[in-house]
Amino acid sequence: MSEPLWLIPLFFFAIATGFYLGRREGKRRQRRRMESLSQEYVAGLNFLLNEEPDKAVEALLNSLEVSDQTLETHLSMARLFRKRGEFDRATLIHSHLLEQGELPRPTQEQIQLELAEDYLAGGLFDRAEEVLLEMLDQDCEKREQVIRQLTHLYEQERDWTSAISMGEQLIKSDPKMGPILAHYCCEEADGQIARGELAPARRMLRRALGFDKQCVRASVVQGRLEMREEQWADAIDAFKRIWQQDKAFFDEVLDELRQCYQRLEKEEDFIRLLADFSAEEPSTARVLLLSEQLRERYGDREAADFIADYMKANPSVRGLHRIIDMNLQLSAQGEAREHLGMLKELTERLTSDKTVYQCRRCGFQTPLLQWRCPSCRRWGTIKPRSEGGSKS
Ligand SMILES: [Zn+2]
Repeated sequence: MSEPLWLIPLFFFAIATGFYLGRREGKRRQRRRMESLSQEYVAGLNFLLNEEPDKAVEALLNSLEVSDQTLETHLSMARLFRKRGEFDRATLIHSHLLEQGELPRPTQEQIQLELAEDYLAGGLFDRAEEVLLEMLDQDCEKREQVIRQLTHLYEQERDWTSAISMGEQLIKSDPKMGPILAHYCCEEADGQIARGELAPARRMLRRALGFDKQCVRASVVQGRLEMREEQWADAIDAFKRIWQQDKAFFDEVLDELRQCYQRLEKEEDFIRLLADFSAEEPSTARVLLLSEQLRERYGDREAADFIADYMKANPSVRGLHRIIDMNLQLSAQGEAREHLGMLKELTERLTSDKTVYQCRRCGFQTPLLQWRCPSCRRWGTIKPRSEGGSKS
């Protein structure tokens, strides 16, 4: 066996010590016990030396009473096994502890939670669920912890309906659950949309916003759903809501928003919206799109001047690239044209290499927008990187 096995004799030693310290009364009885304990200890050590940890665990479990002094050691040892991926051994210890019968209620519940954790870690979701639901049935004292673990379990199983109804019970004591539940609703809505169940999906998205009215994802999903149904005005309402929720995400739907306005033949409204939002808080993507719309209406020179003015105040690689592009088309000749061409290639490379999304909690970077960080597993922590970072 590999290296942490040498820790197990230490556990035996720790248990023996705890046992020894915990029994000051009845010295003779204790001596007899210690003798038998040390025999079991030696037996356990032999099993370990023969690389038979199962027998070693068995020797330990059979030889020791569970007391306040030894309980923590038992639990630590089980946790060590769980951490090493030896779930069977961890569950064996926890089951053994539960069989002791005379444990105080909080202790018993703590062990039940640990046992559920073993099953979860080992991928035995049904067994974990069974243990936890039984605890709820018995009206346990650690109710909140049990509900939290069940929520976590349903989330891992992607059983969003159960995760929502379980997690909902935590909102009062933990308002941070709201945004997480909103993501569960969006996950469920994604599934419903994929199955063509659009009315339930719309209800689920409203529920997401009920849990967290700042939930950008619900607006994005709803906007796309309405586009799919050619409900252009509803899609525009959903996408525009993102501006109020979190401006950093607004440019994610710029192209879709433009399509909606085009379908309604309301390009003027779109230009006004871009101009208003850019005045409130400019971004390169919005200004470039605005210039494109201006170009379509008023021609190249007007648009190039507009961008050049904007870029003087807010320099960025992508903006520079656009100016070069326009100048190439407009007027440059000969050598100047060649230089501009090289510069364009360079800026193209600079803009295409960049990672554009980053987790605010762990710093994980990704080229795709993801609603749950694959690294730290938190919901809603990945955001587009701000201007000047690299979203430009
Ligand atoms: Zn993260």
